[in-house]
Amino acid sequence: MNLTDLPDLSVKRAEALKQSGIESPEDLLMLFPHRYIDRTRIQSIQTLPGNGETATVVGEIKQISEAGFGRKKRLEVTLEDETGQLKGVWFRGSNYFRKLFNKGDRVSFFGTVKRYGRSLSMAHPEVEQLNTKKDEKSLQRIVPVYPGSSQFSKTYITHKLIHSWVNRVLDKTRPAEFLPDDLLKRHSLPERGKALQMIHNPQTMQEPSTALDRFKYEELFLFELSMARVKQVHFERKNGPKLESAGNLTRTFFQDHLPFTLTEGQKSALSDIKTDLLSGMQMHRLIQGDVGAGKTVVAIGALLMAVDNGYQAAFMAPTEILAEQHYHTLTKFLEGLDVEIRLLTGGQNSKLRTDILTSVEGGQCQIVVGTHAIIQEKVNFQKLGLAVIDEQHRFGVKQRADILGKGDSPHLLVMSATPIPRSLALTVYSDLDISVIRGLPDGRKPVKTAVRSDKKREEVYAFLEQNVGEGGQVYVVYPLVEESEVMDLKDATMGFEKLKQRFPDFAIGLIHGRLKSEEKEAVMQQFYDGELQILVSTTVIEVGVDVANANVMIIEHAERFGLSQLHQLRGRIGRGRRQSYCILMPGEKLSKSGRFRLNKMVETSDGFEIAEADLKLRGPGDFLGTKQSGLPEFRFADIVEDRLILEQAKQDAWELMRSDPDLQSDKHKNLKTVFAPYFKEKAAYFGLG
Ligand code: ADP
Ligand code: MG
Repeated sequence: MNLTDLPDLSVKRAEALKQSGIESPEDLLMLFPHRYIDRTRIQSIQTLPGNGETATVVGEIKQISEAGFGRKKRLEVTLEDETGQLKGVWFRGSNYFRKLFNKGDRVSFFGTVKRYGRSLSMAHPEVEQLNTKKDEKSLQRIVPVYPGSSQFSKTYITHKLIHSWVNRVLDKTRPAEFLPDDLLKRHSLPERGKALQMIHNPQTMQEPSTALDRFKYEELFLFELSMARVKQVHFERKNGPKLESAGNLTRTFFQDHLPFTLTEGQKSALSDIKTDLLSGMQMHRLIQGDVGAGKTVVAIGALLMAVDNGYQAAFMAPTEILAEQHYHTLTKFLEGLDVEIRLLTGGQNSKLRTDILTSVEGGQCQIVVGTHAIIQEKVNFQKLGLAVIDEQHRFGVKQRADILGKGDSPHLLVMSATPIPRSLALTVYSDLDISVIRGLPDGRKPVKTAVRSDKKREEVYAFLEQNVGEGGQVYVVYPLVEESEVMDLKDATMGFEKLKQRFPDFAIGLIHGRLKSEEKEAVMQQFYDGELQILVSTTVIEVGVDVANANVMIIEHAERFGLSQLHQLRGRIGRGRRQSYCILMPGEKLSKSGRFRLNKMVETSDGFEIAEADLKLRGPGDFLGTKQSGLPEFRFADIVEDRLILEQAKQDAWELMRSDPDLQSDKHKNLKTVFAPYFKEKAAYFGLG
């Protein structure tokens, strides 16, 4: 059957449907009503309160008359049942409607009931002529209302028309079931054809939501099945390098080199890691901890354990600035220990690069710290035992697979500050074990946060001046989004110039992504060393940067940042002994959501709370960045609201992948047909094709 086989489907209408993504009869079936009108009950006129409720009434036409004059002219049709009278009123098209009625006709009115004085009326009710008892019976049903579009109304595609098309398709075709029978039974989900009936022709107001659960399950199941398959094909956990024990280096580091004691959270994360590394199986672990929780030290611990056991280790970060910082931290912390550490980034000259690559290949270099440069083709490790990915949410699934490819099933540790709610973690990091570092190191003073308008700029500057006078350092952050990069850079540069004029005695630096590697490095170094008092920056400092002495951050155009981003930025301060301050300066009048976000930042510094709010505001796709998560826009399911269905679907999908990975079994034949193209698309999307 084709769409064009449907009655009254003109070329124009077909075009309108196409614009809404409906190109086949199956697409039409998947256009679900967005609400339903309950007409299962016929009400007696006397019982109607008349305050705007909708109702169906049935009766006989007693009178047809015109009232009013000129533009106020209207048609009034009086309907009477055993209990009272009600007027149907038409303000437009009265000549047309008048011809539809005869005194004594038995009809039904459906519409919104209003009371004027003592009389009840319905404006432009839906009318049905009732000639037989059967008509009356068929009237009492639940009426689906389909989502419209302007194209639909232009081409007169009404709800009624859509509904009749849908029913025609349902009559002529049999929607094929592809979910395994046992799963439908297990969760008491209706079979596909039945579910579609329940959606389009429900017998009760409950049926659509029961049926909808089936379609939610269906899409979540397919998604989870694809994730399970990705894991099976690309991240299957094999036997990994078996470490004997955390050796000398690790011990010396934690005993003699670390200038502080570990928090409980850090200790337990390290103990999880150690267990994994000694297990003989490959580690696939995610360390989650709020900004400032101290994830770097945990990573260093893991790196050293690998080195202690004669393996090489890699530590990958999303930006050059961060990679460099990690390199410096490692060099500093490990001073005097006999470990060869190299920094590998994209910005290095070819001579240096060749030197590093040779040393990595030869095995002299034990720890490589770097950016994406680490996973480039030319990089060959002699014996990679562990890969650590910092700020994992900045990378994609492909990069995770790539770094694993640099060794013989090396251990994998990924770290993230994005505290994602459990349901999301289950979906997105389904191939990882998770350790959470709760709490921050002792002695941190919570950052004080305030919103200040541009009018208060002088006061803010006076505060900044005083703070610098006392030895503090300041970040001034400007937004930078790709679409308006040129304008944004101009903003930051102008801000920098203005600050230089305003504070001629201060040393002020400017850093952004367009600078050359050496320039960035030099500016950051000056800021670390305290030679710069103020650092004007775009969001390049957003992740990871750690300068304990910096204690004030001014965020310009703060309303343009998302909540998680603001939280990450603010995480750059509050790392040392000084009281820290974050001043959010909106660049324009705040929208409702802008105000909400800034207030939230003032209200709380709890990463989980902020993440939850952000997730609510933006929805899962945006929140995680679809690139990293591979999370499709689900059509029916909301992975936060429908968490229970998600967990079920996940469990079932993973179970199925274990028992019949290639969907060979006869009872999975239909599923295989549907799943094959779905999976292909997903793999291509991840770049795993
Ligand atoms: P994040 O988890 O955001 O990556 P970092 O690893 O950058 O945090 O740590 C933040 C700062 O806290 C660093 O300067 C680090 O040296 C310090 N730090 C880490 N652990 C502790 C601890 N247990 N006690 C005190 N300071 C710590
Ligand atoms: Mg970090």
